[in-house]
Amino acid sequence: MELKELFLNLNAQWVRWSDYEIAEVSDVQYIRPVKVAEPIPYNCAEKPEDLVVNALNAGMKIWHAAPDLDRACLDFARRYGLLGFGTSNTTAQNLFFGAGAQDERAESAGTSPYYNGVFSRSYGEPFDRFKAKFTAIYAHFLAAQGHISSPAEQEKLRKAWERDFSDGIDGLTYQLTFGEKPELLWKPRNLLTVLRLAYSGAATDPAAPLKLCKFCGNAYYSTNPRSEFCSATCRNHFNVNTFRRRKKDAETGSECND
Ligand SMILES: [Zn+2]
Repeated sequence: MELKELFLNLNAQWVRWSDYEIAEVSDVQYIRPVKVAEPIPYNCAEKPEDLVVNALNAGMKIWHAAPDLDRACLDFARRYGLLGFGTSNTTAQNLFFGAGAQDERAESAGTSPYYNGVFSRSYGEPFDRFKAKFTAIYAHFLAAQGHISSPAEQEKLRKAWERDFSDGIDGLTYQLTFGEKPELLWKPRNLLTVLRLAYSGAATDPAAPLKLCKFCGNAYYSTNPRSEFCSATCRNHFNVNTFRRRKKDAETGSECND
């Protein structure tokens, strides 16, 4: 399904903080805003393509245990905020208006950051669960791209997907406005809902806009069916490499062995 259509009238005010850290509280690692961070409200449904691509590329680093996977997760949080999977019983909007007072109370009581309001500075998400949400989407993407080398790998991807995609912590409600030109407004419960919805739309779009770059291996979004590279830079690098390889092959006379 086309994302433009899917995200029509999606009301998704979210809050990201200016900076995040990974911190340990009672032997559990959390990803959370730093003490001096400033809140930045924004519409997280504005650029669903970018959201999906950034999540897939973070998921790729987590899946392959890349050395800079922590940085990729922090970058995602700085750009979009936390996923909001601690909000299953209430809407983000309610938490938003109640956040201030709750923040002070929770901080002085020294309670676990996980239970505070989703938009409070002391709200954190268990880092392992945070990461698992990204690998679930990435696992689905790899399978959909046909990048599976063995039945064992297929099973591993399916398990990662099943465990952490359909966990019931996202959700979508709606509102019908009153008046002469009524509008149907979709109200996602959290950023995770918006992300999963955007991914699901892109993954089922007949134009197959989610692709892997032929040069750098990153995920990217393009509605051009002939597109093979995430950027002009990658296309140039690939062409230069191909040219050099052909030249070298011609010099050594090995072009017939390809
Ligand atoms: Zn690339």
